[in-house]
Amino acid sequence: MPNLADDNSKQQALDRIALVLSASSPCPLRAGATHANTTVNGLGEGDPNADLFFIGEAPGKNEDLTGRPFVGAAGKILTDLLATIDLKREDVFITSIEKFRPPDNRVPKPQEIMACFPVLEEQIAVIEPKLIVTLGRHALRRMLEWENDIKMKAPPSMDEYRGKIFIGPKGHTYFPIHHPAAALYSRKLLPTLQTDFKEIARLLKTL
Ligand code: URA
Repeated sequence: MPNLADDNSKQQALDRIALVLSASSPCPLRAGATHANTTVNGLGEGDPNADLFFIGEAPGKNEDLTGRPFVGAAGKILTDLLATIDLKREDVFITSIEKFRPPDNRVPKPQEIMACFPVLEEQIAVIEPKLIVTLGRHALRRMLEWENDIKMKAPPSMDEYRGKIFIGPKGHTYFPIHHPAAALYSRKLLPTLQTDFKEIARLLKTL
């Protein structure tokens, strides 16, 4: 049995998850993906031993073309926010609930998200992050549904959850924040995101 506490075997486990589950994913969106058969395809990237784990919504055009998560405009905001707390993308792990780009960047459907979910579940199990930061209400909804074994009729209100730490019944610690893309449309959300990143830095020291 590989020792998953070891960085190298964690990376190997992540590569295996990406290869097996990306290449044979039952997600209907896989058919339209540029990198469907590779180990990348927005499946996630970063430190296999990361304390901090970000979950976004779904790859967009740039992510589909490059096979990397958060490389477009929202990704620039995320990278800049990380820099405000002296972190680089390589220090954290970044992924999304949906692993393939939805047409016209629509919100992924529940059955598409569910088809991709085993990948995310295994990524969390391998990395064992101290803190999971959900980006936006769709990632928050899926994680709330998973933790509580429930189905929600609609995504939760960010006003209710944003910037509040909670521990899910499965034992993971969450800190929901707005999706960085939201700051592209509403500039007033940028200071809120900056405040939340300061809190993330503080939490990481205490967890
Ligand atoms: N938005 C997401 O939620 N994920 C990405 O990878 C890019 C944009």
